[in-house]
Order: sequence, then structure tokens, then C-alpha cells
Amino acid sequence: MVDIACPACGEQDELLGEPVDDGIKITCETCETTWTRDPSPTCKRCGSPDVEGAIKAVIEKSRGSQLSIVATQVVHLCRSCDAELLASYRISRSPLMPDQLPTL
Ligand SMILES: [Zn+2]
Ligand SMILES: [Zn+2]
Repeated sequence: MVDIACPACGEQDELLGEPVDDGIKITCETCETTWTRDPSPTCKRCGSPDVEGAIKAVIEKSRGSQLSIVATQVVHLCRSCDAELLASYRISRSPLMPDQLPTL
């Protein structure tokens, strides 16, 4: 298999794979993120298979007017369409913010 890396921390070695119906469920033993590896993820915009996993925050408005991260999901960023986003994600390794935040 090719370059699998944890989308949250970048770990490439301490990964456990387990086959499931829609791909392979991967658990990172370093940060305990789990995600399903789509056997052939592609970019929704250009159709390129050259994509890389990243963690995206799921944000909800909690009581009061605070926004808090309630969960994370794995998304795929295209190495050409999302090049800038991907470059900054590789450096920060912090969850991407949703495109639209809940309005206050
Ligand atoms: Zn990890
Ligand atoms: Zn693309």
C-alpha cells in the first residue's frame, strides 16, 4: 500500500488496519484517531486521485454564544485544487475549520 499517514498527527508507522465493508478502517496508535480509508478517494472537483487525508472540525454552537469543536471528520484534500490549504495543514496539523461556521 502507498503512503498512508494519519491525517491528524502524520504518523506513518504505528497504524493498525482492519478491513471493513467500504474500505479499510485505520487506527492511529499514536493519537487514537480512527478513519476509514476509502480504497480510491478522488477529488470531487477535478476527479484527480491525487488527494491527501486531513482532519476537519465539526463545530456547533454551544450554550451562550461559544462555538466549540464537537467532533472531527476526515476529508480529502486535492493536491492541485486544495494546494494552499494542504500546504498550511501540513505545517499546522490542526483541524481545518468548516467552510461555514454556525451564525452567532
Ligand atoms: Zn495520529
Ligand atoms: Zn482537484
